Amino acid sequence: MLRNFFALILVLLATPLPTILTRVDADFATLTIVVPWHPAPKSITAGAAVSRFASRTVRTLHVPPEDKVIALTFDDGPWPSGTPRTLALLEKYNAKATFYVIGMYAKRHPELVREAFERGHEIGNHSWTHRYKGITPIELLAEVDGTSELIKQLIGETAVTFRPPGAVLNNGMAARAKSKGYPIVLWSVNSGDTAPNATSTSMIQNVLNHASPGAIVLMHDGGAKQLAKAKALPIILEELTKQGYRFVTVSELLEIAKDPKPIVKPAAPRVLLSPKATPKQSR
Ligand SMILES: [Zn+2]
Repeated sequence: MLRNFFALILVLLATPLPTILTRVDADFATLTIVVPWHPAPKSITAGAAVSRFASRTVRTLHVPPEDKVIALTFDDGPWPSGTPRTLALLEKYNAKATFYVIGMYAKRHPELVREAFERGHEIGNHSWTHRYKGITPIELLAEVDGTSELIKQLIGETAVTFRPPGAVLNNGMAARAKSKGYPIVLWSVNSGDTAPNATSTSMIQNVLNHASPGAIVLMHDGGAKQLAKAKALPIILEELTKQGYRFVTVSELLEIAKDPKPIVKPAAPRVLLSPKATPKQSR
């Protein structure tokens, strides 16, 4: 009986990473999908280009004031409906951006990932399925390492940074990415383009009112509100260009940014020892 149990454990351990039944919580839809991933993904460590920010969580960056640089980021693609339009607009304004792709969509539309990369944009890792919770340790490998491996296969280069879906930092994904040295890149300006009541005007105002040198701007190159997004992006690019901004990738921004503050480790708690009881003297 016990021998059979151990045999079963051995068989399970030898099985390639199983098919993952999961639910996608991206802002565009909720659906149930089956993600096959065979064989188990290799573990890819982040490149050294942004080593100053390795394993750090980045929200805002400080750049020299004379460097009017800004990083536009487009999440949750690639999208056949929105990515080509976004690439054409960025080209028109000579803007470089970062696309935080979802692995399963990158696998479905590899040509869009390659095209973005060949046009000088950066490809970031945004997990395989865009889940927020309930991720087992083995699924974390598919989410983080599996997406990195796919990106490496598609463009020949490792993703430079990781952006956790929904900016959730406590579901294991960010920890896994940090353990591989990836900077965890969030944002300092949210276009709000996934808000139910978002309009092109609100997107434009959200970005322009909060843009500053060193800002990282969150946008989506597809999904709902396509018309509003298509209307907002050229105005954002036009206005920021007029203001003298240069559009760079996230890794370029990390290169330009000042050193991050050193990590302050919490001091070890002081343990107050109660005075030892004085042994009674024997008479
Ligand atoms: Zn996302």
